Amino acid sequence: MFNRVLIANRGEIALRVIRACKELDIECVCVYSQADAGAPYLSMADQAVCIGPAAAAESYLDIPRLIAAAEITSADAIHPGYGFLAENAHFAEVCRDCRIEFIGPSPEAMALLGDKVSAKNLAKSSRVPVFPGSEGEIDDIDEAAQIADKIGYPVIVKAAAGGGGRGMRVCRNENDLRKNVSAASQEAEAAFGNGAVYIEKFLESARHIEVQVIGDKHGDAVHLYERDCSVQRRHQKLIEEAPAPHVEPKRRDEVCKAAAKLIKKAEYAGAATVEFLLDDKQNFYMLEVNTRVQVEHPVTEMITGVDIVKTQILVAAGEPLPFRQREIKPRGHAIECRINAEDPDHNFAPCPGPIHRFDVPGGPGVRFDSHCVAGYRVPSNYDSMIAKLIVHADTRRDAIRRMGRALRELEIGPIKTTTPLHRRLMDNHAFIEGGVDIHWLERMLKA
Ligand code: ADP
Repeated sequence: MFNRVLIANRGEIALRVIRACKELDIECVCVYSQADAGAPYLSMADQAVCIGPAAAAESYLDIPRLIAAAEITSADAIHPGYGFLAENAHFAEVCRDCRIEFIGPSPEAMALLGDKVSAKNLAKSSRVPVFPGSEGEIDDIDEAAQIADKIGYPVIVKAAAGGGGRGMRVCRNENDLRKNVSAASQEAEAAFGNGAVYIEKFLESARHIEVQVIGDKHGDAVHLYERDCSVQRRHQKLIEEAPAPHVEPKRRDEVCKAAAKLIKKAEYAGAATVEFLLDDKQNFYMLEVNTRVQVEHPVTEMITGVDIVKTQILVAAGEPLPFRQREIKPRGHAIECRINAEDPDHNFAPCPGPIHRFDVPGGPGVRFDSHCVAGYRVPSNYDSMIAKLIVHADTRRDAIRRMGRALRELEIGPIKTTTPLHRRLMDNHAFIEGGVDIHWLERMLKA
């Protein structure tokens, strides 16, 4: 087992990893930028190392500085969290070259599944359902037009190296397509240094369902069932839940098993998420694979009892998965609300600044993951998520009631947060009914 883990991240996920290390009796070192100096979670680590100024490019994204911090503190492993360098295969490779264990997949497995074209090809051979579309990268516009004709418009042009919603264009006819293929390719080249694009069928309305999977270095892989993350605004998830409501059990089992098979084939050791869109006829189509722990991992932890972050650390240290597929029995229903320092009444404008009041909910079935306390100042340099409120109950209806109750206990001020919006959503009929699509929240906010 590792002696000392360096956490190459900040905020909520840094604290989550600190907690996992403490429970495994592993020392942990947390890095921080000048903007995060003095943050209370840093004192919970065994050591904290300043790695640079506020700008992420000169701190949390600076590979030489992170490696230097690991070497100075004799850390034998690095946990990347999510965001920043978590899905950077070059960083995983540098760690390996420096004999520091990267807590995540090998650079090869990460590159294979991180590239959407190669992930899609491997998915097909694992019986993971994918969108109809081009066989890999398109290099000829006439060929692309033929494929689009065959699958039918609308289609979407996507970048193989895409992320954060960039390099995607919806095409409603052949004219659109001819314009968009080269534009998307140029955009992808500029953003990712890789101009490869492909096309697939575009779904006007769908739900976002994703499967949590985890593999070890001995060739074993299991799934931890699915989550529904359809409540989104501008592709940002706001509420996640597990299990996904109104999904045919047979379809769900097939897709979960296929997702586990996919990462087994990729010889993938670590946690990953296979993301899907689900259409109104209960067909799943794979979107992409995320090769890291997700923000929303707690809902899966709540229904399965598996500690995903501890398991990541164990498998990175070479241990076999501590459970078998048949031992994973989901129980009850879990919901997570993301508490962001944003003003939902003013177009979600970011609201960084000092927190004076921070009253945290408690009681049965409530989990609150946050690095914030009263007196903390939310820096303006990073993501606006300041807390995750998670509840667990026997049924979905009970979980919604419990979330409503917990949200009324939560008081954060004077900065604005997404809390009041979540309170409204827990009383919303369509949400209570379940099965809303990925555009529902935006439609509701406009109405
Ligand atoms: P990124 O890596 O940039 O986030 P994804 O492939 O995950 O890209 O897609 C991001 C979002 O774009 C999806 O959550 C979905 O809302 C939309 N999208 C992507 N592909 C399709 C598709 N084929 N049909 C409908 N919507 C899509």
